[in-house]
Amino acid sequence: MRKPWFKIPDAVPSGSHIAIIGGGIGGVTALDHLLKAGYKVTLIEKSDYLLSAASGNPAAILDPYISLGETNEKSFYLKAYQYALQYYKNLGEDIFIPCGLSKIAKNEQELNRFKKLAPQYSNDLMSIDKDKLIFPKSGYVIPKHLSARFEESANILLNTAVTEINLNDDNSWSLFTSDKIQILKVDAVILSNSYNVENLKQTEHLKLDKVAGQISYISPEYSDNSILCSNTYLTPKVMTPAGEANICGATFEKNGTLDITDAAHNKNLENAPYRFSNPDILGGRRAIRAISHDHLPLCGPVADYKKYLSGYDTLHHGPGHKSFADASYHPNLFVCAGLGARGFLSAPILGKYLASMVGGNELPFEEKICHAIHPARFIIRNLSKK
Ligand SMILES: Cc1cc2nc3c(=O)[nH]c(=O)nc-3n(C[C@H](O)[C@H](O)[C@H](O)COP(=O)(O)OP(=O)(O)OC[C@H]3O[C@@H](n4cnc5c(N)ncnc54)[C@H](O)[C@@H]3O)c2cc1C
Repeated sequence: MRKPWFKIPDAVPSGSHIAIIGGGIGGVTALDHLLKAGYKVTLIEKSDYLLSAASGNPAAILDPYISLGETNEKSFYLKAYQYALQYYKNLGEDIFIPCGLSKIAKNEQELNRFKKLAPQYSNDLMSIDKDKLIFPKSGYVIPKHLSARFEESANILLNTAVTEINLNDDNSWSLFTSDKIQILKVDAVILSNSYNVENLKQTEHLKLDKVAGQISYISPEYSDNSILCSNTYLTPKVMTPAGEANICGATFEKNGTLDITDAAHNKNLENAPYRFSNPDILGGRRAIRAISHDHLPLCGPVADYKKYLSGYDTLHHGPGHKSFADASYHPNLFVCAGLGARGFLSAPILGKYLASMVGGNELPFEEKICHAIHPARFIIRNLSKK
């Protein structure tokens, strides 16, 4: 069935100037892919360094999403995982530590799931050992080393918050700060500023849940080399601002604040996939994830909300009851947000996806995944069941 509301937008001419708003892992991987595709790119970040918000933990694990059913979420994250492994490995040994990751079954039911799942894949991807599903090639990224790589190499404006973007008559975009100063005029814009997308008028309809999370730095008693995952994850010994530690986390606290709490440390310890004999909490970090209502990212062209509402207002009669016009997007405006709890896993392939879409090249996903992550999917779902 044709779905004109998810039509792929026109390509942005090669050599155009593209601004990325937000320097988390979503923005940085988009930057990398767009530079490689030959665009002039400026990344604008409100903090004084890259990977400062949700992406700024001392270590970010690549935790594959698994499920027995053939869901869009599973297809998306499996592809994302395989691409992320290759992407981070190519960035270098200082950035990605391929230490392996084991998921420990929480109960008999989960173990049965592992037993059915593992034989469907090569041992290279996953294998089962007693109560553990093992991902031998997984590991963790060190965001500090990753940001150092990009801060050197590209055109980055730090300490700059974009509060307004306006379309000009020639279809270029002007970017403004809160004091109404125009900082840039560009051909295209990618919004990678997490839950802050709702502060721009073009994307205020994109609703993301804000879910705070806390990780705990624990004196390094767990001495194995690989990551353990169960209700929480536990890293091998890594360097943190509080010294060498095992990192354990993370909590999920809807609308939680950025204040570190003992309750969250206790929860992490309680859920840790390893029994610490005498745990000493050395410190921790909190940040806020942006999570969409179906847990998939929002990545692709930005719908002109009012035109969608008027153009597709009879969708509840069924998608085939008449012929609908193609999607109305804000010209050359894209979003990559709602990366949820697995942003380091999904960001590289989303960067590739955006660069392919912007360049008019073959996309790395089959059509149903493009639709499943399309930023306009919630508008369409609501109109369909009106
Ligand atoms: C405690 C915790 C632990 C986690 N652990 C893992 C893990 O181990 N592995 C994993 O894959 N994922 C993990 N996640 C999830 C992961 O961190 C996120 O999915 C990912 O960081 C999201 O990336 P992002 O670029 O979308 O957002 P962010 O990293 O939040 O980046 C958004 C950026 O936009 C900037 N910005 C916002 N508004 C503006 C503006 N107006 N102008 C300019 N700049 C702006 C912000 O300053 C910020 O730097 C964890 C999350 C938390 C909270």
